[in-house]
Amino acid sequence: MENLFFKKRILIVEDSKFTSVVLTELLAENGYQTESVTKGEEAVQKVHKGVPLDLILMDIELAGEMNGIEAARKIIKMRDIPVVFLTANTSDKIIQQIKEVNAYGFIIKGTDNAAILSTVNMAIKLHEANIYSKMFQKLFENSLDEYYVFHPHSLKFVAVNKVARKNLGYSSHELKNNTFLDICARFNLESFNKIILSLLNGEQEQIIYNTLFRRKDGTTYPVEVNLYLFDYEGEKLCMAFVVDLTESLKIRNELEEKEMTLSALMDSVQDGIIMFDAQGKLTFWNPAAEKIFGYKKEEILGKDLSKLLFPDDRLYEVYTKAFNNFEINQQQNNLGKTIEMKGINKKGYEFDIEISLSELKTRNSWYAVGIIRDISERKQAQEELENSRKQYLELAEEAPIGILKCDAEGNIIYVNEKALQILGSPSALETKKVNLLKAPSLVAYGFSEKLKTCLKENKIDIYEMKYETIWKKKVWLRVHVKPLVEKHIISGAQLIIDDISEKKKMEEELRNLSVTDSLTQSYNRRYFTQKVEEEIERAERNGSKFSIIMLDIDHFKSINDRYGHNTGDLVLKSLVNVIKNRIRKIDILARWGGEEFVILLLDTNTKNAVFLAEKLRESISNMNVPGVDKVTASFGISTYCKGDTVDTIVNKADMMMYEAKSSGRNCVKY
Ligand code: GH3
Ligand code: MG
Ligand code: MG
Repeated sequence: MENLFFKKRILIVEDSKFTSVVLTELLAENGYQTESVTKGEEAVQKVHKGVPLDLILMDIELAGEMNGIEAARKIIKMRDIPVVFLTANTSDKIIQQIKEVNAYGFIIKGTDNAAILSTVNMAIKLHEANIYSKMFQKLFENSLDEYYVFHPHSLKFVAVNKVARKNLGYSSHELKNNTFLDICARFNLESFNKIILSLLNGEQEQIIYNTLFRRKDGTTYPVEVNLYLFDYEGEKLCMAFVVDLTESLKIRNELEEKEMTLSALMDSVQDGIIMFDAQGKLTFWNPAAEKIFGYKKEEILGKDLSKLLFPDDRLYEVYTKAFNNFEINQQQNNLGKTIEMKGINKKGYEFDIEISLSELKTRNSWYAVGIIRDISERKQAQEELENSRKQYLELAEEAPIGILKCDAEGNIIYVNEKALQILGSPSALETKKVNLLKAPSLVAYGFSEKLKTCLKENKIDIYEMKYETIWKKKVWLRVHVKPLVEKHIISGAQLIIDDISEKKKMEEELRNLSVTDSLTQSYNRRYFTQKVEEEIERAERNGSKFSIIMLDIDHFKSINDRYGHNTGDLVLKSLVNVIKNRIRKIDILARWGGEEFVILLLDTNTKNAVFLAEKLRESISNMNVPGVDKVTASFGISTYCKGDTVDTIVNKADMMMYEAKSSGRNCVKY
């Protein structure tokens, strides 16, 4: 492009020294910068080197090998520099040659200065115009925006550039028969003419509007059209600069969508989202932040961060680390980390918050994004949990029952005072050395297996076990095992142990009581029957023999009548003592009912049973009960035979006893 700030540079190629000097002076006086050479070869050489030149004044007849015509041909081939010939000769031949090399004209030597200057000026201007025209054509054809030129009246196309043709899908040839209206999807002739009219009558200089263009294949695309009129070869033409908006609309839509999603997100999250710049001034504020701190967006934006976050003494270090260092050094150590600190709300109340920071760098600014959560409730819940845990421990420590806790591997992790007492353990430390799933004694007692099942199946188990602890304490334990579940995983078990040794002793006594007759301390009928059943089984198994004696006091009714019921009782007790002293330990004396007794004699045949019965009869008749005359009893005996049941064997003895009664009493029948 021609530079407006420098003088135009002209190369004079002239072998006549006089002409050269005269020209140089004339041109210099008129604001041109000149150089001169004498030979055509020298001129070609300069052009070849790229010396900047705006015009060459070329003599046709030169001293060197190369004449001016030849030199000009070479030069024009190399570079687009206008050449004006200097000639004294204006023969047809010369004029023809000048035309052939596309020179910008000629100056007849000796002509007046005004004509010379005018030709020089014209040549330079014309060349400039040529350059602009070429450049415009290139720009027009190769622009990335669509350019259309059309007649404002017929709307027929004059020119359409490459990118427009490509986008529309028409060739240049096809467009010759089309009008601008054909590609306007939104206009009819009438509405479009209105637009053009406002340009034609000078109401508007240019018109910019958005519309749709229709391609050859019928599809459309959004465009921005910029219309204006210009003069060309004596008539008005219309120029349309068109920008295809497809991409930018897409991007805008995407951006809008993103923005909408983001703002919906910002509005709906529970966490406060804030942004502040390097000076600690707030630049973003979402509704959750408003809820947490109580400030409206309008109230807080632009205000200092210290309005929200309170760097008291205790938290000063955290605060400084989190913000100041973060800003100044851009240290990454707090990025993405969550820190707990105190916030202050609009009313001035302090509360616990959790904040996590990240960094946002734009081209020339730095911001921090903070996500804030109000954790005062969580803190409170944590404290309450801590308190109740403490309370539980205190309670457990003083509880009148033994409490132990173990983990899922059976390691004891807690034992209270009472449990130590129950187990006879010297200390909690000692106790914790025991593994409930592995200690050999616990495995042997079957305890470990039971605990394992509880832990595996998450079930509560209660059982009693007689156990000698590793500290050599014999104890009856009642164990209540309850698995502990944390976050859906069985983390261990709580064991409540109770020393039930006392209770067990009482139960034993109770059991003893229930097999004896309370008045006489002999066995009762239930126990006797059970023992006979066992003996029958034994006899069936190994052929052992046994007998039973049934005896009934004679005329006991009259004893009661005569001496009173208490004396009757005394008679019964005395009789039992007499019999107990006579029989073996293994024999079983039981009260059958009233004043009727039975004796089970193990491994005893009839003969021996009769012998004993006689002895008993005699002892009873000699029995001395204070205040009572004489007591006798009648005896019946039966011995086990194969097939006997308790009933049959007792019945036989009973029958024999009645036989003794009817035979006059105080005798033995078998
Ligand atoms: P027999 O010689 O035929 O056996 O005549 P008996 O009077 O002994 O027989 P009976 O069955 O007529 O009477 C039994 C009496 O025993 C009736 C009842 O009051 C008395 N008796 C039953 N149990 C007790 C007791 O526990 N203490 C006392 N003092 N008397 C009892
Ligand atoms: Mg009786
Ligand atoms: Mg009787």
